[in-house]
Amino acid sequence: MQSTGVNIIALEAHLRKAIERDELELYYQPQINLLTNEISSFEALLRWNNSEFGFISPAEFIPLAEDTGLIIPIGNWVIDGACRQIKEWTEKAGKPIRIAINISPKQFMQLDLVRVIKSSMEKYNIEPSLLEIEITEGAMQDTKETILILKRLKDLGIKISVDDFGTGYSSLSYLKQFPIDVLKIDQSFIRDIKYNGKDAAIITTIIHLGNSLGMEVIAEGVEEQSQVDFLTNADCEKAQGFFFAKPLRSQEAEEKFILILKTSS
Ligand code: C2E
Ligand code: MG
Ligand code: MG
Ligand code: MG
Repeated sequence: MQSTGVNIIALEAHLRKAIERDELELYYQPQINLLTNEISSFEALLRWNNSEFGFISPAEFIPLAEDTGLIIPIGNWVIDGACRQIKEWTEKAGKPIRIAINISPKQFMQLDLVRVIKSSMEKYNIEPSLLEIEITEGAMQDTKETILILKRLKDLGIKISVDDFGTGYSSLSYLKQFPIDVLKIDQSFIRDIKYNGKDAAIITTIIHLGNSLGMEVIAEGVEEQSQVDFLTNADCEKAQGFFFAKPLRSQEAEEKFILILKTSS
């Protein structure tokens, strides 16, 4: 236990310096339109490569960043990087490229978030609808404050997405009250589509729900052709997962998915 404690303190000290030492990097995973097979959106996923500890997974350092408050400067760095990438890729592709970023609960409740997003969008002069923020159900408590923050974000013109949909405890009534554009079906449901009739039923229901509410539905964690077939049959609009591509470095994503768009149009 003690050594874990020491490690966490050391890790925190390194995380504090991660931005200035240029150790953070955004990777990008494409989202595929299942109807057209086109790619016009990506999820930005943060990577941390530390000189001493090596590669550390976001599953480990995001919770640490949340606990220490470091998520605010790190999150602001992510917002800036994603906006810059939207600008660059939209120019290079010759068509609009949307990027989704993950916003943690503490970031979401931060009063400054709306201003930070607005100023990054203005800095790079990007179309607001090309920025999407992913928030988990856990961060969306059914309170006046949540509704106020979401409305302010929505007023900026950005897209709002519910990440890991179906795993939280929120009541469905928030889908009616909150200005939500995208539902991301959690990968735990996708994993066992073939074997688990309940998962298949849940997925089909989420897709219908999203489609009838006029929301975009994205399936996460798609790894196999059989899952793609199931989702296509069930009228799921988009999918994301290792079957199509892992999260890639900016340069690699650009070579594989962005520059192609220019030549094909
Ligand atoms: P998430 O937003 O739900 O992201 C999906 C995770 O699933 C990513 O893990 C992604 O690499 C992984 N994934 C994608 N396709 C597949 C697949 O086909 N199979 C499997 N098994 N996994 C797949 P990653 O990159 O390790 O990120 C983990 C979590 O860390 C994210 O979950 C998100 O909650 C958080 N995170 C990542 N980047 C950021 C960030 O910039 N800010 C914040 N606040 N959180 C972040
Ligand atoms: Mg996400
Ligand atoms: Mg997710
Ligand atoms: Mg997750």
